[in-house]
Amino acid sequence: MNLAQLLARAARTDPDRPAIFSGAAPVASYRDWEDRSARLAGALRDAGLEPGDRVVLFLRNHPRYLEVLLGAWWAGLVVVPVNAKLHPNEAQWIIDNAQARWAFVTADVAPGPFDGLERQIDVETPAYGALLQALAAPMVERAPDDVAWLFYTSGTTGRPKGVMLTHRNLMTMGLTYFVDVDPIAPQDAIVYAAPMSHGAGIYAIPHLMAGARHVVPASGGVEPEELFALARKAGPLSMFAAPTIVKRLVDHAEAHGETGEGFKTIVYGGAPMYAADIERALRVMGPRFVQIYGQGETPMVGTALSRAHLADTAHPRHAARIASVGVAQTPVQVRVADSAGQDLPAGEVGEVLVRGDTVMAGYWRNPEATAAAVRDGWLWTGDMGALDADGFLTLKDRSKDLIISGGSNIYPREVEEVLLTAPGLAEVAVVGAPDPEWGEVVVAFVVPQKGTALEAAALDAHCLAQIARFKRPKRYEIVDVLPKNNYGKVLKTELRRRLVGG
Ligand code: AMP
Repeated sequence: MNLAQLLARAARTDPDRPAIFSGAAPVASYRDWEDRSARLAGALRDAGLEPGDRVVLFLRNHPRYLEVLLGAWWAGLVVVPVNAKLHPNEAQWIIDNAQARWAFVTADVAPGPFDGLERQIDVETPAYGALLQALAAPMVERAPDDVAWLFYTSGTTGRPKGVMLTHRNLMTMGLTYFVDVDPIAPQDAIVYAAPMSHGAGIYAIPHLMAGARHVVPASGGVEPEELFALARKAGPLSMFAAPTIVKRLVDHAEAHGETGEGFKTIVYGGAPMYAADIERALRVMGPRFVQIYGQGETPMVGTALSRAHLADTAHPRHAARIASVGVAQTPVQVRVADSAGQDLPAGEVGEVLVRGDTVMAGYWRNPEATAAAVRDGWLWTGDMGALDADGFLTLKDRSKDLIISGGSNIYPREVEEVLLTAPGLAEVAVVGAPDPEWGEVVVAFVVPQKGTALEAAALDAHCLAQIARFKRPKRYEIVDVLPKNNYGKVLKTELRRRLVGG
């Protein structure tokens, strides 16, 4: 089993179909893509790279990303895509940890040379073109459990860990997209607006399975205006987007009277999507959304909240469902357990456990961390949540985000959901601050909508009207922006640090 078979099959069945686009312009057919990747594989093999060797990709979203990804797999290598927004020192750390032999880069992302590599190739230089002069290599056979992708966790705390994703993990992930997220037709397109080193790039696999179109926006990132224009030109367009990106798209749509025409499916996940935000997104852009919950350790596959569930407004439990992350995706089992691994009854909060063919083979050269994360085949996600009687999972907070005030557990997410329905509030993050009397007290960092002033007293009254007194924030910090990591996740550790710093 080699993921590169997907490229060979598409190129054989439909060689002339346009495959890769730079903006709205086609730059490679499936035949071109296969030819270039197979030649690149030839160059890598000629240089002595052996199956299982690691190759780093440290470049901005780029049409050649896909060529390199598939070329490396064709040669039996392991890809190590590194988030282009990382500091070169952080990328160097990953290069060392992965013991990578080669790296493919762009100069904007990697201005200087890294240590320890045999070669570093800028894909925008003639050196890259020279590699494509090699003779095409035959595809290297791989076993289903061989590693295909070393996925470095985003590391909101501590050093990132290399998640070993196998060919089987990613093949299963790709097939699951068709069942649990959305069927894909050959004329459909995926646009890579979010980093290709993460979920957005992983979704290249189902789109390769369908022989669909792969669109890299000219900006290489999230420019709402560009994306809406692309949707009209290159659609039906699907994309993966973190909730913060969805918000930017919806803001743009609302401001410009757009309806989301040309967008097929926006898959959101990676961080909490608040009920108020998804309701607004559906109102402004229509039924174009599907939610997934997963993590690097079971990429894109945990639960899904389908388009149909989101649209079923007549269901008596609709309000709870849209605040949930949906039901287990087809190839996995999902349960909620106490710290001893015992199943908890419906409604009780415990750790979310996932088992199935998408669960990683382990952390790269880190057996202790692997043994802690995967026990008897069950992945301990570190996420806290509760299942309802119908199998819908609602995430609470990661255990470290839970606030304990005066002995009561307070889930920040619940307070955030309520605050987001207050007028004039754009974003919120709730954390605990150390307190001599209560242990911790609830503090809300709030971002006002443009041109609005927020009053702590009004927010307090809003909370009092909806949730228990003890859960409401004791303090409000009004800020212009929330600190976020490179994937748009709010850095609660940083907020807590600010509170301790005074
Ligand atoms: P990563 O491994 O960087 O993709 O981060 C995975 C983490 O993001 C999960 O463990 C969750 O804490 C969070 N996450 C992923 N999907 C969702 C979602 N749909 N809703 C809320 N949090 C999510």
